[in-house]
Amino acid sequence: MLLLYHVVIVIGLLSGCGWAAPECNRNAEYCQDRAMHPDMQEPKQQQQQQQPRLAGEESNAYWRDQGVQFIKQKLSELPKQGRAKNIIMFLGDGMGVTTTSAARNLLGGEEQSLSFDHFPYTGLSKTYSVDLTVPDSACTATAYLCGVKGQEGTIGVNGAVPRGDCKTMMDESKHVDSIAKWAMEAGKWAGLVTTTRVTHASPAGVYAHIAERDWESDTDVTADCGEDSEVPDIAYQLIKGEVGSKLKLVLGGGRKNFVDKNLADWGKRSDGWNLIEEFQKLSPGNAYVTTAEELMALDVTKTERILGLFQHDHLLYHMQAVDQASDQPTLEQMTRKAIEFMSQNEEGYFLFIEGGRIDQAHHDNQARMALDETIEFSKAIAAARELTSEDDTLLVITADHSHAFTYSGYGYRGTDIFGKAPANGNDGIPHMILSYANGPSAERFYNAETKERVDPTTLITGHHEEAFPAGVPLDSETHGGDDVLVYASGPWSHLFTGVYEQSTIPHMMAYSACLGDGLTVCSGSQRT
Ligand SMILES: [Zn+2]
Repeated sequence: MLLLYHVVIVIGLLSGCGWAAPECNRNAEYCQDRAMHPDMQEPKQQQQQQQPRLAGEESNAYWRDQGVQFIKQKLSELPKQGRAKNIIMFLGDGMGVTTTSAARNLLGGEEQSLSFDHFPYTGLSKTYSVDLTVPDSACTATAYLCGVKGQEGTIGVNGAVPRGDCKTMMDESKHVDSIAKWAMEAGKWAGLVTTTRVTHASPAGVYAHIAERDWESDTDVTADCGEDSEVPDIAYQLIKGEVGSKLKLVLGGGRKNFVDKNLADWGKRSDGWNLIEEFQKLSPGNAYVTTAEELMALDVTKTERILGLFQHDHLLYHMQAVDQASDQPTLEQMTRKAIEFMSQNEEGYFLFIEGGRIDQAHHDNQARMALDETIEFSKAIAAARELTSEDDTLLVITADHSHAFTYSGYGYRGTDIFGKAPANGNDGIPHMILSYANGPSAERFYNAETKERVDPTTLITGHHEEAFPAGVPLDSETHGGDDVLVYASGPWSHLFTGVYEQSTIPHMMAYSACLGDGLTVCSGSQRT
């Protein structure tokens, strides 16, 4: 009698909400539990239960065959030794594992693969810095390019240099050099490609030594260190510095940091320099390009060095560039041209290529753009693999750090990754498959008056710039402290397996190509 009373109440409540329970054809205990908990996952539609997403998935053979094929593939992949002539390092800024897993859906479903999913060897990199458990893109660049960990916000200096310390950073004994320098000392060419400003934290790791990642122009330095500090800003180091002045190729955004504000209305410098002109004046063979068309038209055989700056600031997100019919190149176009150019050196090259805006979209909770940037990154890697040989080129793909980005909620196979989870929250309001632990969208998704979440499906309607829900309100969503994957192919790529410090990565790259003064395949095991 008591049970019947409860069932009547529940049905009354449910019908009052206008909610009709789907037919329940599982066992009585489950059906009763579901009736009492309307927030439980709704049962799959009959059609979804009967038809697997892909033909054969309901059988044993489908999965067993995949297992056998994978083993056979692994058995056919003998570790490559020899010596790497070229090294290309691809950096997906902020590309944590949830990002790559979610991005596969955009290729047609969760069973799809990003280009680098097929790489023969993977490992995990521990990303913490000397001072923080969750690092930023500056100190991680020092780790994965220079092989030493430093403090948050610093680039190309060791852990003895605190962030923003104008004096300590001038002590050259605390500077650490990147693998780009080691490569050039061995006769190789070195270059960088990014979708951010070329003076932003990750690419700066290739050539700069600086205590504060934000000192991209002299105006930024003067604001923090005063007029007489003599601290060279990052843009200055790129054009005039020991490593920057020797880079053969620099492609990305960020013109503003190279030109005085009195010389151009978009300029940011205060010291009178036009560093772009300085680059051009060095040699008639130095090419400066500002559009995709100019870049693609360059005759690489007649070009000594290339500086391509395609925006005043960061490059546009790929989706924005398409919307605005921008003349900026895609990451894939820049990658193809870079490899065409760098391949001319008989001694080989080191090339750093960054998908830099995965991170920035995440900081704004813009999941669609973060995943689209990941796909663009994947296309660039596919191009690199097509244009190079595993026999002489080591490709290393990794991220600097993860993000507070979650992929959850028991979505049905084949459903929209940007859609809602099948079940509602305990508050009866839908929640999304993709969300963030924190970030600027939090306030939008919470109604302070009613103290309830806003139904996210009313705010997420399909535009690529819209934000996904976040828990804690913050101006900028934070990085994550989880390990990031490292994918490798080519000579000595099998070294990249296991779990290791992020700072180990350049030492392994150097080993494969006989660079630097550490242990390499050329120095053998005698030296340590
Ligand atoms: Zn970031």
